[in-house]
Amino acid sequence: MNIPLHLRHRLTEAIAGRNGMTKRIEFSAKTKEAIAKRAGYRCSFLGCDRLTVGPDIDPRRFEVSGVACHIYSASQAGPRGWGSLAPQDIAATSNGIWMCAHHAGLIDKNAGAAYSPTLLAAWKADREQRTAREHNGLVLQQGWIKRLTVRQSPIFDDNCTLEFGKVTLIVGSIGSGKTALCDWISTLATCKHLSRWQKHGKPLHFDVAFSNPADHTLSVQLNSACPEIRVDDVIHSLGPIPFAMMYVNEHFRRSAGNEMQLLCNLLDLDPRSVRALTARICESPVGILAAAEWTCAGSGDNHDGSTLMCTLHRGESYVRVPFRSGALSGGERTAILLEFVIARLQLAARLAPAVLLVEYGALCMDAVRLRYYVNFLASPRSSFQTIMTAPMYWAAELVHKSNLLCYRLDDSIDRGHRISRWDFGPSLPPN
Ligand SMILES: [Zn+2]
Repeated sequence: MNIPLHLRHRLTEAIAGRNGMTKRIEFSAKTKEAIAKRAGYRCSFLGCDRLTVGPDIDPRRFEVSGVACHIYSASQAGPRGWGSLAPQDIAATSNGIWMCAHHAGLIDKNAGAAYSPTLLAAWKADREQRTAREHNGLVLQQGWIKRLTVRQSPIFDDNCTLEFGKVTLIVGSIGSGKTALCDWISTLATCKHLSRWQKHGKPLHFDVAFSNPADHTLSVQLNSACPEIRVDDVIHSLGPIPFAMMYVNEHFRRSAGNEMQLLCNLLDLDPRSVRALTARICESPVGILAAAEWTCAGSGDNHDGSTLMCTLHRGESYVRVPFRSGALSGGERTAILLEFVIARLQLAARLAPAVLLVEYGALCMDAVRLRYYVNFLASPRSSFQTIMTAPMYWAAELVHKSNLLCYRLDDSIDRGHRISRWDFGPSLPPN
């Protein structure tokens, strides 16, 4: 039987009432205050940003117009339910998102159908990250890749849409179109990855909605030899849009030369800038790399033979080893390169919206380490958005208890693959 969503919700509520599931878990006053302050008292609804605190007429008082909303609902029968959260998790600051009064009402309309827990968690992460930046004195132009709509393609059903969060995971089997989506999104920064699709010879039309900070749409159509690229319906021939983007795929650990050449290629920087970035990594370490230095000063202009010495956290202690040596495991080497990529994007994000596109083949490291980096990327400490592809078996490792938006690419029987949003929230996906 097909019951409309709003009726289904009411039915659930009625059953829940009978089973005593309508009990609400409210936030304490202290938790509400923490949720509001972590958001800088600004609405977290994507694109709203409304300030929700200000002076009252009474010179001794102030007025708060925002609301601490539940990501997973206050009652088990509420629009988003409890997922698999325990009551203490429902009451926690991590389950609260700060909204203006208008958007607080909107997210629960139609049983919350349009606003899943993962989407709200992604907005919360974005809002808190922006508050952190402003708090650190960096008032920046904010940008965000909002949505990719595949109008027509040789791979997917027509008019498939993906919305993006702070970290978005795209899972699917080999050949399901993960790389295609990354190639298309990368058009925001470069047309380099479109040539492969030109050779394909089949029509391709997609739109990327982004804010910079005003809303825009990049529209790409490949019919014949030359791609037609429009921004907001105007033919765009000015080159890439000011978006700092790094597209990291499985080739990123390979290089014929020494580590300086490897890093120059990977980061698209000259040796002098790589040295400057190395110094920066030591100032604000992210993961295992506590410090790094180049042993021979070199001229700085050419690919000299200097060696990268790395000081790493290993368990409770530190070790100092050369990057090119048997003393590093493959996972550690990948982690070091990833930390260079992160440092590069953190720096770029000071000037322009920044995005990391990363394919899972690039990240060969154990699950614990991988989860560590994904949690970092989803946290307010990271100043950029991440879009990551992954095989199915990773999803269970990564999505558990983290604020990731996840899409699954299905192989369909007839034409086109289907993209479906996979809302497992904090519970484990089916295998
Ligand atoms: Zn709002």
